[in-house]
Amino acid sequence: MKIAVCVKQVPDSWAEKKMAGGVLDRAGVDAVLNDLDEYAIEAALALVEANSPTGATGEGSGHSITLISMGPERASESIRKGLSMGADDAILITDPALGGSDSLATSLVLAQVLSAGGYDLIFCGTESTDARMSVIPAMLAERLQISQLTFAGAVSVDTTSATAKISRVTDSGIEEMSAAFPAVISVIEKINEPRYPSFKGIMAAKKKIIESKSLSDIGLSTSDVGSDAALSSVEDAQARPPRSAGIKLVDEGNAGTALAEFLAEKRVI
Ligand SMILES: Cc1cc2nc3c(=O)[nH]c(=O)nc-3n(C[C@H](O)[C@H](O)[C@H](O)COP(=O)(O)OP(=O)(O)OC[C@H]3O[C@@H](n4cnc5c(N)ncnc54)[C@H](O)[C@@H]3O)c2cc1C
Repeated sequence: MKIAVCVKQVPDSWAEKKMAGGVLDRAGVDAVLNDLDEYAIEAALALVEANSPTGATGEGSGHSITLISMGPERASESIRKGLSMGADDAILITDPALGGSDSLATSLVLAQVLSAGGYDLIFCGTESTDARMSVIPAMLAERLQISQLTFAGAVSVDTTSATAKISRVTDSGIEEMSAAFPAVISVIEKINEPRYPSFKGIMAAKKKIIESKSLSDIGLSTSDVGSDAALSSVEDAQARPPRSAGIKLVDEGNAGTALAEFLAEKRVI
């Protein structure tokens, strides 16, 4: 199997964030690999291990895992973490013109690279922890005209029939679905427990190749991406007001009534 995993570098969830020029100021905050993409990497690694004659990933497994990311140069730091978990190599699409790109442009760029790579399976997280739109996997499937198996809580493959199977939990029960390769699979965080990179993995990752591609390398022009091509724009943003002190109820025999009245006033009950 030739597997791609889409990974995004995002601002650290705990970092204080601010807007600059209608977009999130990403340059001034610590950046990390999107948490939810670690589950996608783990799912790909586990799938290769389960279908490898050696029981391991990498050379000799007969399969490959490539990380694909669109982001600034420094996204290579986050990619390196995915490589240290066990992915084989990576492609980073980076170009100054990409700043301000919306989800349509992001999916266009990723689809362009994925289409050229001829991957059997494309793994994604369910959402990024910064923009949280949860739209890229579906957009990729649509752009590539391939099947999408989204919100997977379990994944397996039959390499003989070149079919992927997932199950997902919905309000109405557990759904099982399958699709022939190639397919896009997005995974939820309950699917697995991402492995910690081992010391050996971290050392090996230093030698793994991150191929950097510009917009022209992938056959797109600056007018296809960036804030000028974005169909949405942020007109205004206000900082969240500081938290006010809460109300403390001291029980003098009437706290239950006071609590119920408070909740009723807030229309909670
Ligand atoms: C007007 C506007 C301006 C914006 N400007 C910027 C900007 O300057 N910089 C910026 O970073 N964002 C910017 N964004 C946000 C950006 O468009 C979204 O981050 C992007 O569309 C992906 O959406 P998402 O993060 O919600 O992905 P989701 O759909 O929530 O992500 C699902 C999965 O898709 C994959 N994925 C998502 N994004 C990437 C990626 N870049 N590379 C690889 N895999 C990915 C991951 O597997 C992820 O788990 C802007 C948005 C708008 C509307």
